Amino acid sequence: MIIRQEICVGCGRCHPYCPTHAIHFQDLKSAVDQEVCYECGCCLRAEICPVEAIEDSPQVYDYPRALRKYFSDPNATHALTGIQGRGTEESKTNDVTLRVGPGEVGIAIEVGRPNIGMNLTNIQKITRALARAGIHEIEPNNPFQDMIQDHSTGDLKPELMGERVLSAIIEIQVKRDRLRHILRTIKEVAREVDSVFCLDVYTLLEPGLTVPPEVLEIIESEGLSWRPNAKINLGLGRAWERKNS
Ligand code: SF4
Ligand code: SF4
Repeated sequence: MIIRQEICVGCGRCHPYCPTHAIHFQDLKSAVDQEVCYECGCCLRAEICPVEAIEDSPQVYDYPRALRKYFSDPNATHALTGIQGRGTEESKTNDVTLRVGPGEVGIAIEVGRPNIGMNLTNIQKITRALARAGIHEIEPNNPFQDMIQDHSTGDLKPELMGERVLSAIIEIQVKRDRLRHILRTIKEVAREVDSVFCLDVYTLLEPGLTVPPEVLEIIESEGLSWRPNAKINLGLGRAWERKNS
């Protein structure tokens, strides 16, 4: 994002809208620190500038900077997947896609929310830890599928290391008997991650609409608290029929 210096009157109204304090005073005007800005668009969407001095930078869609916008601006469509909202919807739509089937669990690691953000080096710490734990594949419709340079090591493409995003999600799926090992891996790498993150564990419900007790036992015995969150499938996806036809 940029602020046009020849127009800005230095009123400061835009400052509180920036989640990362990238907007600062400079010579009685306001300016955006381009290193710090996530390109989230909050300052522009708020429509609070009395002189319309805030606008997208001409470089906002240049690679790799464009990734800041794709991961941080909820209105941006991610170029790598064509999906809004951090470029993925897989964990939310599993009842329709049925990628995570019976006997499996999906794990989504959501880093940076709320409003903390992070450098992508933190994502690499996690993808490397997962690779060491034997996870060499992530969800194919997740943007990190293309952003990881070497799936055997979890290394991201080197040009991404200077980029910052407001939030990103890594999604994987494993057999249930590997859940405990992966949770321990994530707990261990959490100490190195310079941001906040939450962990989603998702699974199909058992007959009777109960969460598989085996999954809950593993989560609780690893000292993690959990909060149920359901997505309602109205039957329109008919995932079971497609899977079994
Ligand atoms: S786009 Fe977001 S991070 Fe950048 S200056 Fe505006 S509010 Fe701050
Ligand atoms: S709201 Fe507009 S005029 Fe006021 S400081 Fe921000 S950019 Fe400048």
